[in-house]
Amino acid sequence: MKKRLFTPGPTPIPETVMLKMAEPIIHHRNPEFNEILTRVNKNLKVLFQTEQPVLTLTASGTGGVESTFVSLFSPGDTIIAANGGKFGERWVKMPKAFGMNVVEIKVEWGKAPTAEQVLAALKANPAAKAVYLVHSETSTGAATDVKTLAKLIRENSNALVCVDGITAVGAHEMRFDEWGIDVCVTGSQKGLMIPPGLAFVALSQRAVAAMESSKMPRFYFDLKKALKSYQDNDTPWTPAVSLVIGVDAALQQIVQEGMENVWARHQRLANAIRAGVTGAGLKLFSEFPSYAVTPVWVPEGVEWKKFNKTLKGKYGITIAGGQDEYKDRIFRISHLGYYDELDMITMIGALELTLKECGHSFELGAGVKALLQSLASR
Ligand SMILES: *Cc1c(COP(=O)(O)O)cnc(C)c1O
Repeated sequence: MKKRLFTPGPTPIPETVMLKMAEPIIHHRNPEFNEILTRVNKNLKVLFQTEQPVLTLTASGTGGVESTFVSLFSPGDTIIAANGGKFGERWVKMPKAFGMNVVEIKVEWGKAPTAEQVLAALKANPAAKAVYLVHSETSTGAATDVKTLAKLIRENSNALVCVDGITAVGAHEMRFDEWGIDVCVTGSQKGLMIPPGLAFVALSQRAVAAMESSKMPRFYFDLKKALKSYQDNDTPWTPAVSLVIGVDAALQQIVQEGMENVWARHQRLANAIRAGVTGAGLKLFSEFPSYAVTPVWVPEGVEWKKFNKTLKGKYGITIAGGQDEYKDRIFRISHLGYYDELDMITMIGALELTLKECGHSFELGAGVKALLQSLASR
């Protein structure tokens, strides 16, 4: 049985990238590695659409975000954070652990923060140093209109615009410079199609300037140190060498496909999966769906555990379940990273067979048909 991963991180790895990572390890302080990191740094600028530095850290995405809290701010600083799911919640909890004041914008799961909510929070907290937004909230599949909100934040405050782009970068349009973003973080096991272990942090000049006055205790996650090494295409500590080699190969593929094409492919696959899911008689969970992941209500009469066990045991497909109050009530299908049209047919085909086995009543093939129509109609 083939194993197929449809989870929003880790995501499948291209074969060419796997082979690169399987090569004998090289030393990180030699010209060979410097050449690789130089190319990675150059291609990361394309990924984020920026002329600013994008730092590579050995950490998961969460470590990347932590590096921004400890390197840009001081204890007692106020930040605003939009919380519409598990990851938004994390960016409310984390700065509190560092003695910061957090103004929370509460967002219902499945929805995105509105301009009115952000504006109200800025007006009520004129001293706020930053606004943290989750571009694609992976727990709910809701996408935030970062472009519009960034403009609004810039026009109405001096707060830094900080974006958790961990499942958005590579799936959603991201124009770091043009949109006036100050901080954007992503992780290696999402849109970048390699295993977990690297985080990437893009920083504007305003963000770099903020590091000068930060008084937060830190050491490993000091972006000032990382930025200094970055100038020489180096890292302050031993990087995850094999992962950097992997991301070099993955970035070359992404850049070759072209960012516009990569974003369009994600949109096309997301639309196809949604057509397939609704064609099979299921309902979508999120109001503002992300192009990275599609959350779906478990239909009435279907037991999630049996459904998931069948999908995995019989068809080798791993999807993600719901979290917190949506545990056992929704499931999430990822189409982030290394996927094409035919992968979507596989997914919906297996979904339909599994739904039939679990007693869901619908016309077998209706989902695949709707999916194919979606793919053919573009
Ligand atoms: C996966 C994810 C994270 C956490 O990243 P880790 O690599 O698990 O630390 C944060 N935010 C979002 C939106 C994610 O999807």
